[in-house]
Amino acid sequence: MSRFWSPFVKSLVPYVPGEQPKLTKLVKLNTNENPYGPSPRALQAMRAELGDDLRLYPDPNSDLLKQAVARYYQVPASHVFLGNGSDEVLAHIFHGLFQHDLPLLFPDISYSFYPVYCGLYGVAHETVALDEQFQIRPQDYARPNGGIIFPNPNAPTGCLLALEAVEQILKASPDSVVVVDEAYIDFGGETAIALVQRYPNLLVTQTLSKSRSLAGLRVGLAVGHPDLIEALERVKNSFNSYPLDRLAIVGATAAFEDQAHFDTTRNAVIASREILVEQLQAKGFEVLPSAANFIFVRHPQHDAAGLAATLREQGVIVRHFKQARIAQFLRISIGTPEQNQALLDGLSGL
Ligand code: PMP
Repeated sequence: MSRFWSPFVKSLVPYVPGEQPKLTKLVKLNTNENPYGPSPRALQAMRAELGDDLRLYPDPNSDLLKQAVARYYQVPASHVFLGNGSDEVLAHIFHGLFQHDLPLLFPDISYSFYPVYCGLYGVAHETVALDEQFQIRPQDYARPNGGIIFPNPNAPTGCLLALEAVEQILKASPDSVVVVDEAYIDFGGETAIALVQRYPNLLVTQTLSKSRSLAGLRVGLAVGHPDLIEALERVKNSFNSYPLDRLAIVGATAAFEDQAHFDTTRNAVIASREILVEQLQAKGFEVLPSAANFIFVRHPQHDAAGLAATLREQGVIVRHFKQARIAQFLRISIGTPEQNQALLDGLSGL
């Protein structure tokens, strides 16, 4: 703490991201990155962009990418907002759409950045408990609120909420903004973007960090009614006019245009997930149903922190959260078949 700090900084509790180890030999199954590389077309587009034009600022509106996203999801470009990773998009959402007297609602087990943004932007909030099966119960959100946000599939559980249930939540709170954080939707769910034309209170966020394997590029997006998008543009243009650099704009655009690479890699991750679930169940693990590129597991006889430590000693890193309700779970990102085998080898003592 320093006497130079703005007073509110003393009360901030920052988000702690999963470890990015300096040792490259580790089998890294801790931050839900894609085990396969990005689209070769995205890499080529970025290589082509490397030149003297980097002396110029990028397009502040990233129109090229906005149009690619609009084409992909068949919405007008006025419905699209872009940011430096969906974390930044979420930050602008908390700042621009969630500061109300009534509390923001989100699940008790959810993306741990949400309470951090509440702290940063002074957003009143209440958590809503998942049921015993770790599922979101839509009816629990039908109460006075200043906004609702949940990941779908949820993180770190991986559990998917059906689109009808999302719609139930939207219908019960027509005067609140409902944000569906679809960071992992491409690994087994149906996007709610089709609903934005009917629900002006719906905002859907997505990222290129997972299914498009561009976590290192930092590109995220939101799709919703232009009134909601305008709030985000106002916040963005009061914060950073150029959140997406020249490489990000062309790389992300090309990624959206490479459907074949997207389908191949996503299907490989899904297929590996189904195999890994069975292999872990055979070892006695309980595995929550996952529609994401990770699984959430616990073993009735083995302590989760102990298992994480054992795996680490053998060069495999997974994520363990200390939060009471999930302290006996491990979140394991789906790797290549070889990486998943390394995980199983690391658990061979069970
Ligand atoms: N939402 C959820 C639920 C996530 O797990 C993550 C990844 N940590 C994000 C959003 C942010 O991803 P990014 O900033 O890479 O787009």
